[in-house]
Amino acid sequence: MKFGTKVIHAGVQPDPSTGAIMTPIFQTSTYVQQSPGKNQGFEYSRTHNPTRAVLEKNLAALENGSVGLSFASGMAAIDAILKLLKPGDEVISTNDLYGGTYRIFTKIFANYGIRFHFVNMQDMAEVRSHLTKNTKLIWAETPTNPMMNIVDIEALAAISKEHGVLLGVDNTFATPFLQNPLDKGADLVMHSVTKYLAGHSDVIMGAIVVKDAELAEKLAFIQNSCGAVPGPQDCFLVLRGIKTLHLRMERHSQNGKTIAAYLKNHPKVEKVYWPGFEDHPNHAIAKKQMRDFGGMISFTLKDNRLSDAIQVLENFKVFVLAESLGGVESLCGHPATMTHASIPREEREKVGLSDSLIRLSVGIEDAEDLKNDLARALESIQ
Ligand SMILES: *Cc1c(COP(=O)(O)O)cnc(C)c1O
Repeated sequence: MKFGTKVIHAGVQPDPSTGAIMTPIFQTSTYVQQSPGKNQGFEYSRTHNPTRAVLEKNLAALENGSVGLSFASGMAAIDAILKLLKPGDEVISTNDLYGGTYRIFTKIFANYGIRFHFVNMQDMAEVRSHLTKNTKLIWAETPTNPMMNIVDIEALAAISKEHGVLLGVDNTFATPFLQNPLDKGADLVMHSVTKYLAGHSDVIMGAIVVKDAELAEKLAFIQNSCGAVPGPQDCFLVLRGIKTLHLRMERHSQNGKTIAAYLKNHPKVEKVYWPGFEDHPNHAIAKKQMRDFGGMISFTLKDNRLSDAIQVLENFKVFVLAESLGGVESLCGHPATMTHASIPREEREKVGLSDSLIRLSVGIEDAEDLKNDLARALESIQ
């Protein structure tokens, strides 16, 4: 099946007991057994739930994996992946990581004896220089948040294979519509389903998809043992959201292109970060591994003043100031004070995450209205 068919049909079958075309919300914690240990494949909903099982099959198909696992949040999915590790193990990751991931690495798992190295993943020599015999996981995001850097997944996969290290990719920004990390050699792909997959800003959920059966078994064991599973109602909402993922992503990418070009020519804008530009430092890699460039854009203002950024953010009418991304509606955010506030200022500025940096999650509204909104908000700067 092609992508636009998979989003609607993969893993989804009419309910055999009623013919209901949509997967029912199996709001049940337990399942009647015919005799001890004899059941219809479901025992307890922390372990398996029929609504969740359909979603997990669908997610696996979208990422060209064999097993999908869903979690109560994106962070719960990352938590489960880190629980594959032991004290003494080391992780190599990017230096412009999602703030919550940086926090769980440095404030939670660092306390359990796991060591984290944050490197510039544009530079494979730098990645290699941090490998030790204890390295167990390379953790990448691409595009990165919020600097929209592109990391070469195939190049990382070559290093990970060579050294017997797992490669995990947070594919939240790209979605399986734009990019399939498992096809490029990653071992694990993770999503904050909360964002584009759910797509309507109404659910918190995470997911992991893998190809390898043994790895899948270990993760399912962690999922069941630690218990951060999503409820069936949320699984239903995500199944519904995913049915239009391809249509939404096409429009997000179209609008993203229009808005990025508009900002690039605006006199009050200093720099625009969007991987679709030919002069983006990793445009060639983006073209190689992505099908289009999406609707996530960051930009800075001339003179880099915090007060100007706040002025712009307060004057938007269509773009809504909020955490999160990937919904049908356009959102804007201020990474330095919002998503990345937990990263020390020197660390932030080293990677370009400056005070005037504004991040846009361009929605699927009419692009003219979005441009007009940007024009008005940027005009409000004195
Ligand atoms: C939001 C996000 C997460 C965390 O997901 P939650 O669903 O909020 O727990 C992880 N990585 C990226 C890139 C994100 O945008």
